[in-house]
Amino acid sequence: MKICTVCKVEKDGVNFNKDTRKMDGLRSSCRDCDAIKGKIYRSNNVEKLKIDHANYERKNRSKLTAYRSKYRAENAEKVKEQDKRYKRTRKEKEMLSEKILLSCQDVTDPKIVAWLNSIVNNNVPTPK
Ligand SMILES: [Zn+2]
Repeated sequence: MKICTVCKVEKDGVNFNKDTRKMDGLRSSCRDCDAIKGKIYRSNNVEKLKIDHANYERKNRSKLTAYRSKYRAENAEKVKEQDKRYKRTRKEKEMLSEKILLSCQDVTDPKIVAWLNSIVNNNVPTPK
């Protein structure tokens, strides 16, 4: 058991990430606090992280390409499923944005009017 220096809660060792520089081999803050800190850092450094990521990709392009093609070869089935899921989601999003775009251009089309009405009737409660 160890007390987190941030939230001051006593937790089991498995709730702390490893840190080889520390005497007990664990970070002083717990995983939950680290996760919150990470989220705050990432949201405050979106542009910097984008640049860092692009630089990393550029510097390690050949290594990453080799790793990715090896992974795709070793996990062919998994990758195929992920690709299928990605394509399906993208198609659904495209269809939805197409519908929204159409509704903005031509609200006199009875089909689009009916579609808009169905959205309004489902989401907005009728006034009393
Ligand atoms: Zn904590």
